Amino acid sequence: MELLKGKTAMVTGGTRGIGYAVVKVYLENGAKVALCGSRQETVDKALEKLKGENPEYPVIGLCPDLLNPEEVGKAVATVKDTFGSLDIMVNNAGVSARDSIYDYKAEDFAKTMNLNVDAVFNCAQAAARVMKEQGGGVILNTSSMVSIYGQPSGVAYPASKFAVNGLTKSLARELGKDNIRVNAVAPGVTRTDMVAALPEAMIKPLIATIPLGRVGEPEDVANAFLFLASDLASYVTGEILSVDGAART
Ligand code: NAD
Repeated sequence: MELLKGKTAMVTGGTRGIGYAVVKVYLENGAKVALCGSRQETVDKALEKLKGENPEYPVIGLCPDLLNPEEVGKAVATVKDTFGSLDIMVNNAGVSARDSIYDYKAEDFAKTMNLNVDAVFNCAQAAARVMKEQGGGVILNTSSMVSIYGQPSGVAYPASKFAVNGLTKSLARELGKDNIRVNAVAPGVTRTDMVAALPEAMIKPLIATIPLGRVGEPEDVANAFLFLASDLASYVTGEILSVDGAART
């Protein structure tokens, strides 16, 4: 079934990990996709990989500075000019850190907040302007399990994801009248590069705390993004959907 036939999506942090899996499942479901990354080189690599799977995939790569509202606006305009609309905006790019509060540098705290919160605001704003004009759309944000429970170090990361939930719930209320749905997906531990690099000795005790007995795959998370982007979720807005195997750490 092609759940996103005729729709256009823009996915930040689409070059690897969760974002790449979202791009892939969206293309498999008939969407046209603009994937964004922080460097041209990684964007090109992701495009090459996708075209290797299906040379016909309607996918382009962009590299806007997500902290610059003007660049984000231009990127959104490029997507609209290329594909004719912007129906789904996925704000997925994010960074995390584990610094202790005693050593945390203010500029490092700001760096995490800038990408994880300010960039989400910039992209949501640019997308909402276009979506309002075209009669509706869907904005999706990547939150995290730590947005519900916090985490015992690296306070900027959970603080930023609490803010993502706040943006999600508030924008859902503000944009409902313009037929724009806003939701977030809150992944648990997901097997992206970061997690795959962890030694077995760290992974085993981690898995023991997860009722489903395994870490999540990027595809598990991407399928939640597929549901929320599709018309199957036409009456779902302001939700933070956990995809974490019921982990409570
Ligand atoms: P990843 O590190 O594999 O990918 C991060 C993506 O963000 C990359 O595509 C990268 O290009 C992009 N990015 C990084 N810095 C950027 C910048 N300054 N400007 C623009 N783009 C930038 O990460 P991932 O694990 O796939 O994480 C994706 C999202 O999922 C993040 O928001 C993360 O917080 C969230 N998340 C991940 C996990 C997990 O266990 N992997 C769990 C919960 C939430």
